[in-house]
Amino acid sequence: YFNSNTILYLNGRFEKSADTNADLYGQSLHYGYAVFEGIRAYSTHNGTRIFKAREHFERLKRSAELVHIPFTWDINKLIKQTYRLLEINNLKDAYVRPLVYCPPAMSLIAAKEASIMICAWEWEAYLGHKLLKVSVSSFERPNPKSTPIEAKVSGNYVNSILATTEAKSKGFDEALLLDMYGNVAEAPGANIFIEKNGKLYTPPLGNILPGITRATVIELCHILDIEIIEKHLSVKDLKHADSAFFCGTATEIAGIASIDEYTFPLKWTETVGATIQRTYRSLVLEKQNYEVII
Ligand code: PMP
Repeated sequence: YFNSNTILYLNGRFEKSADTNADLYGQSLHYGYAVFEGIRAYSTHNGTRIFKAREHFERLKRSAELVHIPFTWDINKLIKQTYRLLEINNLKDAYVRPLVYCPPAMSLIAAKEASIMICAWEWEAYLGHKLLKVSVSSFERPNPKSTPIEAKVSGNYVNSILATTEAKSKGFDEALLLDMYGNVAEAPGANIFIEKNGKLYTPPLGNILPGITRATVIELCHILDIEIIEKHLSVKDLKHADSAFFCGTATEIAGIASIDEYTFPLKWTETVGATIQRTYRSLVLEKQNYEVII
């Protein structure tokens, strides 16, 4: 992710990663009290473009506000500085990781100030390009009454690490977590869609992270005239579906081969998900008329 020449953005300045340090007495390290984002920049014919930069920085701000971390930065400036960061590090296709973290304090009182760091690196699709073998996790997503699930809070990701570790230890590629009512929620770092009879279904907002890719997929469905229904889905719905896919900034669109013992009957190339995958690619690469090149 970095070497001694990597430049980071830290509170308005660009610094060599080797010259920066983090405080060992910070609330962020001890309590997971930090918020972050995952953004992608793509090398397009219009130059390097950060996909939905504003939406991501706005979610970062909202995440901070939801857990009472002061967010004092101007979003337009942050976007400009992120472009500059990519330029300085000579990155064209990159994953961008902003992190808002808190100064030293051992108390459980909300922070009065915070720092922002942004780093970036080249990153392949997070779950690779093959169809995924997925397992329903024994871990549930956190109850939104315990922690704001719509905020990208660092501490929430212990749940994601536990689910991922469990799935991998059982020989699967990825986990699928249910919410506290036993409905399908999301993957450790991605949202899910299923296809049944040519229509797409996805869990509604409330018990999941409101994914920016999820919102993009819904927009694409409207453009492509694909019926999309947001509703609670059971594991049974999942295991009667024709196909399914995960979506997320790092993951992009990733087809799912199977859930536990159930293999989806449709060949991936013939699924609505495959159409969405091609269209999403055209969209992030800013290909003209992306809706007609599918
Ligand atoms: N759910 C979780 C738990 C995530 O961590 C992510 C990645 N941010 C997503 C869904 C997908 O969100 P997005 O499309 O905004 O990357």
